[in-house]
Amino acid sequence: MHIFNSMGLRMFSEDKSWTLDFTTFIPEHEKNSEALCTIGNGYLGTRGAFEESTASEVHYPGTYMAGVYNILESEVGGRTIENEDFVNCPNWTAVTFRIDDGTWFDIADVEILDYHKQLHFKEGVLVRKIRFKDARGRISLLQSRRFVSMDSMHVAGIQYCITPENYSGTVTVRSALEGDHINDGVKRYRQLNQLHLAGVEERCASNRLYLAVKTTQSGITVAQAALNRYFVNDSESQEEGAGETRDRYVGETVSFAIKQGETFRLDKVVTIFTSRDEGVESPLESAAAALDGIGNFDDLFQRHVAALQKYWDKADIEIEGGEREQKILRFHIFHLLVIASEHNTVLDAAVPARGLHGEAYRGHVFWDEMYVFPFFNLHFPSISRALLLYRYRRLDAARRYAAEHGYTGAMYPWQSGSSGREETQIIHLNPVSGEWGPDHSSLQRHVSLAIAYNVWMYYHVTQDREFLVRYGAEMLFDIARFWGSKAVLNAATGRYEIPKVMGPNEYHEMVPGAKEGGLKDNAYTNVLVVWLLKKCFGCQAILSEGELQTIESKVGLTEEEKKKWRDMAHKIHIVIKDGIISQYDGFLNLQELDWEAYRKKYGNIQRLDRLLKAEGLSPDDYQLSKQADLLMLFYVLPPGEVGAILRECGYEFTDDMLRKNYDYYLARTSHGSTLSLVVHAYVASLLNDMNSSIAWYEKALAADIEDVQGGTVKEGIHAGLMGGTIFLFYTAFAGLDFYGDTLTFEPSLPSAWKRVRFTVTFRKVTYSVVITQRKLTVSVDASVTDPVTVRVFDKEYTLAGGKETVVDL
Ligand code: BGC
Repeated sequence: MHIFNSMGLRMFSEDKSWTLDFTTFIPEHEKNSEALCTIGNGYLGTRGAFEESTASEVHYPGTYMAGVYNILESEVGGRTIENEDFVNCPNWTAVTFRIDDGTWFDIADVEILDYHKQLHFKEGVLVRKIRFKDARGRISLLQSRRFVSMDSMHVAGIQYCITPENYSGTVTVRSALEGDHINDGVKRYRQLNQLHLAGVEERCASNRLYLAVKTTQSGITVAQAALNRYFVNDSESQEEGAGETRDRYVGETVSFAIKQGETFRLDKVVTIFTSRDEGVESPLESAAAALDGIGNFDDLFQRHVAALQKYWDKADIEIEGGEREQKILRFHIFHLLVIASEHNTVLDAAVPARGLHGEAYRGHVFWDEMYVFPFFNLHFPSISRALLLYRYRRLDAARRYAAEHGYTGAMYPWQSGSSGREETQIIHLNPVSGEWGPDHSSLQRHVSLAIAYNVWMYYHVTQDREFLVRYGAEMLFDIARFWGSKAVLNAATGRYEIPKVMGPNEYHEMVPGAKEGGLKDNAYTNVLVVWLLKKCFGCQAILSEGELQTIESKVGLTEEEKKKWRDMAHKIHIVIKDGIISQYDGFLNLQELDWEAYRKKYGNIQRLDRLLKAEGLSPDDYQLSKQADLLMLFYVLPPGEVGAILRECGYEFTDDMLRKNYDYYLARTSHGSTLSLVVHAYVASLLNDMNSSIAWYEKALAADIEDVQGGTVKEGIHAGLMGGTIFLFYTAFAGLDFYGDTLTFEPSLPSAWKRVRFTVTFRKVTYSVVITQRKLTVSVDASVTDPVTVRVFDKEYTLAGGKETVVDL
């Protein structure tokens, strides 16, 4: 019998471009593998930990649900600090077994004969096969597969099989819902309080398990119900399990006599609800009701696969001749869909920087969304819209945050969680020195610009006017108001300065020797402020007078503010010396670091900040950057637009400046954030330096799958990096430019790529594109009746619905 073939699904796909495979069990790498093998559906994400495992040095089971946070206080160094955490919700995957009177299965106790853990991107299923020999020489085959449904957001399931190969015996199985754990996924947080769940109800009956827990501060009830069905060689047993309940735990145990060669199987189908769900009064009742008549595992699984296929139909990228790129891009697309799906249209949640994959950064939402939005904009605009609404709902919190700091308008927090208040911690542990130090990173006010940018680009790509009128413009205007109130006119120079900020370069927190955090005139910030003001002016052409008035009065925009905006838009202060745009005012005057000496001394200097601080030095004193900061400008805006803004502000921007600035900052950047890799790959492509661009791209692709940072992946994947690599595929290589009103293609495929194929949706029209080294073929669906124009290099082509247009390159 082969359980995995019942619906024609091969257990282990031959097509490696659709799978991530682990064929050796390496205890030290297992937590990485768990994060990389996370499955999910936007509503929840479940790490790929063994069903039999509990938290240990080797394993860390975790289930995270969109928006389920909890705040706890902890004492650190004599003070009380608060942290809002991403709660590790009850573990619905728990299943274990023992043979005869042996101990419960532990992979550390057996001899592994065969091992294969495989994540299928296409089917969204994690499968595992382990053949092992125990101390008594008994050989067993253990197989499992699990899914979290893209079809119904509350449903997940596991199929779990054991086959005795050279013996007959009693297999005792335990299936449970476990909520009796703490958050323990990040070592650095261990000194903090981490008990987030309190028990509400545990009960079991007729092979059904019911568990409800409640988060201790936010009061969110999380409920799960499970139906366990047991089979021996496909024939269902009526055996009932012996139930066990205790605080935050419910499980059942059942034994079967299995003959050599027979297969025992458990089908565990789970329903999951929280009190945050729309229309749900009692999550446990909802979970129990959903379990009634839920149908069998195979049907549910098939429905999930079919639902996921619809996403792939829109978002898949095919690359012939780029095996590695093909696989990793699919892997990245899959994980973005784990983080957000159409289910998000009824959720109040955004994109946590480290996904629903682990506890790093406590599930908080940063500016990283900026790297992720292009993917959703071009394929699933309704998901983008849902994610933007998370920010809209927190506009009042951003207004309060601005007011607390003496500003008008909306100032979004650097790290956002449930309420929209600032969640950035005020002290930070340096693992190199073991010391806690101040954390000024909340001064990265540019996060509000990223939000405005995401709003604008969503509108630009989709032309969702209704969104702009109801929500988007209000956010743009209120964020602009904040910047207007933050900017200060320097009477001596006649220029507007923006003090007390930090750029994306988090290693620089303050002016050398200063007592307070904050820097002046971060160029990335200041140029984007002008960009935003111009977009607000541009709204006049999009919105009716009445609509504009409503928005202006909603945000309370005054004539005086408008006047200041108009003035600021051509008088912002930026420091440029010999063609180098200073990252902030003062950066170019700092000392140079002896990079070679540091590389020699430490090897890996990505986390230069920690190394310098542990040496008693301050990164603030040196011209160094954690990641792309000034260069970010060119990642988000076409160079022509950056140049235009600079010129309108009275600065020179010459053709050679992009190269000069790239070289200058590259020599001073340690790439301590994975985001840096995609930005450098992109800027190199703007310079037509395709060899460098591809080299950066390869590094970016490797970053998570190979855990290049050495230890961060186990705490969650990097959503921004994943979004960035997909963006790069479209823009740097397929040459797609969606900044204008017409889609433009200027392909520059890496020489090894023979052919790429994808679809993108721009302004409600879906384009199917095939590019080879010689030709570009583009078509729109037959249902498109209005003529559609695209540009390929400098030439315009009008497309007729249902017909291919082929352009020689
Ligand atoms: C990066 C930030 C990023 C954060 C969350 C940090 O290491 O420097 O730019 O927002 O990680 O991913």
